[in-house]
Amino acid sequence: MVKLYEFHEFLGSILDDNGACRGCVIQDMFSMEIKALKADAVVMATGGCGLIFGKSTMSMICTGGANARVYKEGAKYANGEFIQVHPTAIPGADKLRLMSESARGEGGRVWVPKTPQDPRDPNSIPENERYYFLEERYPTYGNLVPRDIATREIFDVCANGGLSVEKNDFCVYLDLTMLPASAHHKLEGILAIYEKFGGGNPRTSPMKIFPAVHYSMGGVWVDFEKNEQTGGLVYGSPRNQRTNIAGLYAIGEADYQYHGANRLGANSLLSCIFAGLMLGPTLQTYFKSLKQSASDLPESVFDRAVRKHKDQMDQLVARSGNENAYQLHDELGKSMTANCTVVRHNERSCRPSKNRPDRGAISARPAGRLGQMDESESLVHARSRRHDPAG
Ligand SMILES: Cc1cc2nc3c(=O)[nH]c(=O)nc-3n(C[C@H](O)[C@H](O)[C@H](O)COP(=O)(O)OP(=O)(O)OC[C@H]3O[C@@H](n4cnc5c(N)ncnc54)[C@H](O)[C@@H]3O)c2cc1C
Repeated sequence: MVKLYEFHEFLGSILDDNGACRGCVIQDMFSMEIKALKADAVVMATGGCGLIFGKSTMSMICTGGANARVYKEGAKYANGEFIQVHPTAIPGADKLRLMSESARGEGGRVWVPKTPQDPRDPNSIPENERYYFLEERYPTYGNLVPRDIATREIFDVCANGGLSVEKNDFCVYLDLTMLPASAHHKLEGILAIYEKFGGGNPRTSPMKIFPAVHYSMGGVWVDFEKNEQTGGLVYGSPRNQRTNIAGLYAIGEADYQYHGANRLGANSLLSCIFAGLMLGPTLQTYFKSLKQSASDLPESVFDRAVRKHKDQMDQLVARSGNENAYQLHDELGKSMTANCTVVRHNERSCRPSKNRPDRGAISARPAGRLGQMDESESLVHARSRRHDPAG
């Protein structure tokens, strides 16, 4: 029987005296109660870390906090610098919503006014005053250039060319107004999304879009056992999908596997099926190898872990000062987006501004967000440690 703990935050794993994972500590996000869950193995399936970029297309719960917590406990984190950016997303106050590439596929055209922040209604801007930069820069492929190129060019036109449609929020036009009704009909689903979240009718007025962080290729490092005879994997090996901590496994976007710098479409479907197939027999083998179950361990192992997290939470809640967790998050997101997404600047990656006033201790409300912010810092650290150019 599966017991679901909804609205519970993973605070950390529980390690026994031999360093093996024996469960996890969770927090009820309504009552704020912190408690231990005993387990012979823990599988992390906590998704990507979009929140450290401020906003992304991911769910707003994809903070990366769970990964950061196991990283701080000694789990290796790999490929953190590789983040997938989707070229077209609808900017939003809360999060960014994906605008499918099918819009360009059906003939949508990307452009900006040649006059920076031209205040006119886009429909009234004459053709010769529009810069169809993908078509001009890539005459063969035009608006059908691959994702990475479209992303870089949209970013370049706004960040370096100063031609963003809006001054304070980077965006360009994705124009579907010239398409026939039959093409609009094919795109009804995504047009409805724009109408709901972007506002305006994209059939008659160009959409405003900008690239958005979409997928974390990096994550918790996991192992596999190779079959030396076949070169394939040893099915059922307890090492498969295992982190460097015994009993702690990671799957899905939370792990670092499969992608490297490039993420291919539909890989999440693949990783869902693959991890499911691998993990069942893997865990069975691991359980059989255990000399002692988590439930046989002394209570002190679990009490100690709960105490540690309660103390940490008490310290967070007791803090006072003018620093604001939301403002910090905003600054973090802006810095990560400017320096660690489409173009990477190692020398300035996520350093606080020298002119930033010292506001003293961080204010402790709300504690949940504060805890996540605290943890995000270590993912930024993990992400900045390797100095390869980001994809
Ligand atoms: C709009 C959109 C379109 C996409 N389209 C495609 C596509 O066409 N093809 C494709 O392959 N991929 C696509 N993706 C990516 C794909 O959906 C994700 O990579 C995939 O869903 C990740 O699955 P996951 O189970 O690893 O993580 P998630 O689905 O992100 O689930 C993570 C879970 O962990 C929980 N969690 C997070 N932190 C904690 C914590 N600290 N404590 C407790 N729980 C926590 C979250 O609440 C969530 O339930 C798309 C993504 C988006 C946003």
